[in-house]
Amino acid sequence: MSVTRFNIEPFLNTLQQQRTVLTPNNRSVNVILQEYGNYQRGSRAWLRPPVFAIDIWLQQLWTAAAANGIEPFDQLRLLDRFSEQCIWTKQLDASSEQYPLLNTGLTANPVARSYHLSSQWLLFEDAALAEQQHAQDFSAFLTWCAQYRAYCKANQLIGLSDAIALLLDRLDDLEPLLPESLLLVSFTEPPPLYERLFDALATRIDVQRFSRAESKTEAGDLLFSQTSTSPGKFGRYQFPDLETEARACVDHCLEQARLDDGKHIGIIIDQGKNHEFVLRKAFDRRLKMSHCDFSPDSNPQFNLLQGSQLLADAKRVELAVKLIELNHRQVDTEKFCHLMQSAQLAGTAEELQQRIKLQLVLRRKLASTTRLSSLRTIMNRDSSNYHCPGLADQLLQFTELARRCPSHQMLQAWINLFKQQLTVFGWPGTTSSTAELRDGVQWEQALDQLAATSAIHGKVGFGSALRILKLLLKQIPRRQPFDSNLNISLMSLEEAQDFDFDTVWLLATDNNSLPSPVNPALFLPRSIQQRLAMPGSSSETQLQMCKAQLTRLSRQTAHLIISHHEYEDDLQLSCSPLIDKLTTTPWPGHSDSAASLQGERAVTLEQLQEPLWLPLEADIDAGGTGLLSNQSNCPFRAFARYRLGAEQLPAIQQGLNPMVRGSALHLALDRLSEELDTLEKIQQCPADERRQIIATSIEPAISQLRDQLPDIMTPAFAALERQRLSTLLEGFLDYETDRPEFTVSATEQSLSWSHSRLALKFRIDRIDQLGDGSLALIDYKSGKKFNYRWFDDRPDDLQLPLYQLALSAASDNVIATLIYQVNIDGVSLFGPTDNELIHPGLKLLAKTRSFNGSWSELQERWEHIVFALAEEFEQGLLAVAPTRGSQTCQYCELPALCRINERLSMRDRRDEELT
Ligand code: SF4
Repeated sequence: MSVTRFNIEPFLNTLQQQRTVLTPNNRSVNVILQEYGNYQRGSRAWLRPPVFAIDIWLQQLWTAAAANGIEPFDQLRLLDRFSEQCIWTKQLDASSEQYPLLNTGLTANPVARSYHLSSQWLLFEDAALAEQQHAQDFSAFLTWCAQYRAYCKANQLIGLSDAIALLLDRLDDLEPLLPESLLLVSFTEPPPLYERLFDALATRIDVQRFSRAESKTEAGDLLFSQTSTSPGKFGRYQFPDLETEARACVDHCLEQARLDDGKHIGIIIDQGKNHEFVLRKAFDRRLKMSHCDFSPDSNPQFNLLQGSQLLADAKRVELAVKLIELNHRQVDTEKFCHLMQSAQLAGTAEELQQRIKLQLVLRRKLASTTRLSSLRTIMNRDSSNYHCPGLADQLLQFTELARRCPSHQMLQAWINLFKQQLTVFGWPGTTSSTAELRDGVQWEQALDQLAATSAIHGKVGFGSALRILKLLLKQIPRRQPFDSNLNISLMSLEEAQDFDFDTVWLLATDNNSLPSPVNPALFLPRSIQQRLAMPGSSSETQLQMCKAQLTRLSRQTAHLIISHHEYEDDLQLSCSPLIDKLTTTPWPGHSDSAASLQGERAVTLEQLQEPLWLPLEADIDAGGTGLLSNQSNCPFRAFARYRLGAEQLPAIQQGLNPMVRGSALHLALDRLSEELDTLEKIQQCPADERRQIIATSIEPAISQLRDQLPDIMTPAFAALERQRLSTLLEGFLDYETDRPEFTVSATEQSLSWSHSRLALKFRIDRIDQLGDGSLALIDYKSGKKFNYRWFDDRPDDLQLPLYQLALSAASDNVIATLIYQVNIDGVSLFGPTDNELIHPGLKLLAKTRSFNGSWSELQERWEHIVFALAEEFEQGLLAVAPTRGSQTCQYCELPALCRINERLSMRDRRDEELT
């Protein structure tokens, strides 16, 4: 059944007789044509009636006049909004010395708005204007207006509001081009300039108006009171929060749609808030129960007149802009990594495996920005497994195209270059969906619009060309799909004025949104705006406009529900004063219909019982101490990492990150401990010599950093890093001096430990022999101090337990396993031991509250834990069971794989539904 969104009955004759109909906007045009199409359903062919938005009709009139050689229309080019904005930006830039602005591009918009409003409200004819000229903002505005007009005159350009004034003046010349009659539909309160135009037209042709009948009895304050003339027409409900409100709204609308699929159901939202997202969530939850897809292209349950998305947000457009950005001297490495695996680029499928490996190399080796030439060099290494000749060739062609262009050229030339460069990458790829086709058409139109501003900008560099392109893409709303079979529509209160409804739900009507806040034109005198009752100029205007809109809405619908919620986070909200006379009733709910909806439309969920154990079938000889530490923390994490090979993509280096600096310090400490390997040597080393040894120990670390990050390790950075390492090494030696006798007996010693199918290999940073011949195993750490929970049943870290277990096969003399913490906060040694000979500050086991036993008892316990965890891993326990809950998951990179968050939210939802 077709849904009636607008009753065209009263002017059906006009449409059938092909007489011209004008509306305030394209929205109304579309809905009228749609209804006319429904009316004509079954006819073999029918003519599109001449229904136009007023601005489009005026542009057509101008073009016809120009085509007929009528002066001055044939000499002036009509500007679109974006071209006008570009001219304003140019004028603001030109006067920046007199009127300095932080961002001329951003200021151009409110200046252009002020200009349009002043033209539409005939402000420049207002006698009171002269008194306001001393105001600083207004005087700046007048200067910019004069410059704008002078520029347009010199370049034979004209903006739309100036064009209307000119059309009005020359209406006599245009008379042969005017239609016999005009029907004005839905012009409720047109600005004075349009009124003047309509009056002038009415003196020459037949001009009629159509608007829905006004009813005096239901206007104004009485509208939503209990004394309303239509009792039962309104309902007011209050909910604790927005989510509950949205769910009730969705239940109600789906129920209405189920009862009658010919009904038009409106949900009025505030587009400045996140209502669209919350409603999508509520629809998804109600209809699918477990599946969440909030993208605007996903299976819609409603028509959205204007979504929150802009053309810049469309995936293919984003991809095009990222490709164009490769023209920058320095390329963002992270973005490039994403880009080269895009399925929309030619050659990705053929080189996918190599590109994945290339990404790992780039992430490990390169800094956050890099040159395109460096990227090409890396991917051209033909003996490597990340050799990507196809991609390298595309980059070469891309660069060659740019190289042939001058650094400054006209915008049109930049657009041509961008188009050629995109072709090199095979953009936009094979178009598969109508949404992508729509985006593609909008992209082409945007480029044409941009090209039309070429003369305004003159010759520009690449940075400016890209900035203007991005600015335009952020101003174009992404076209929404429209399904005429869907009977629920989401729209703003203003948009709703152009439709008829069977039911409307007005969501979130709190006092901040109804009436909408004051929004005056920034550069026009407030007093004049208020006197002329310009839109947004005062709270009184907003109130009157809101009342009028609500009145119209109530006439256009059979049933109007108004709701609001009490809390937004911690903030308590009050309902809009416009509806507070209407009594709140408890929400009746729709449990029956919700159940039937689930039955009709919900996805059937299949329950799969996953195995909890998958025994190891092959030997594992890689993994180090991390394998058992991960098993201890979360069995699934160990399974995913060491059996599935799941790993997080390495993060791109943002400068010198803590890991890189930590490994540099590690290396420097190794070199220092090899040189000054006894207490005696440290104590007897003269200050100069000590400084020299420290400096020599640091150099291998600096060259390691230079190899890893050639772009970052400039001489200045290297000097800073030398200074940092030298301070840390000085502090380290001071701490060593306080220790009783010791000798460094080994550094970086390789060890292995095996059990059944597991063979783990690792390195101990350092082994010290103490005065009594016993051994202490040491691991350097440069980060913040951490609780390793060595005494728990499932310790956080099994590095030290494994060290002592591996070494105990060769020596029974190990009396301590220690962490040597060296960082900017200080130097310290800590770890379990009974022995007092290591450092006077070390806390002994006897004083540890969390373990009640001796070092040998701890060794026994650790041995038991290590073997138990190794058995667990071999038997293949893969439970998603983080040992310390969210604390364990906090730094884990696998939540997307184990789906812990989804499990927790499903559990919460089940609990919530049960209650
Ligand atoms: S996120 Fe938590 S539950 Fe998931 S694998 Fe990591 S530690 Fe385990």
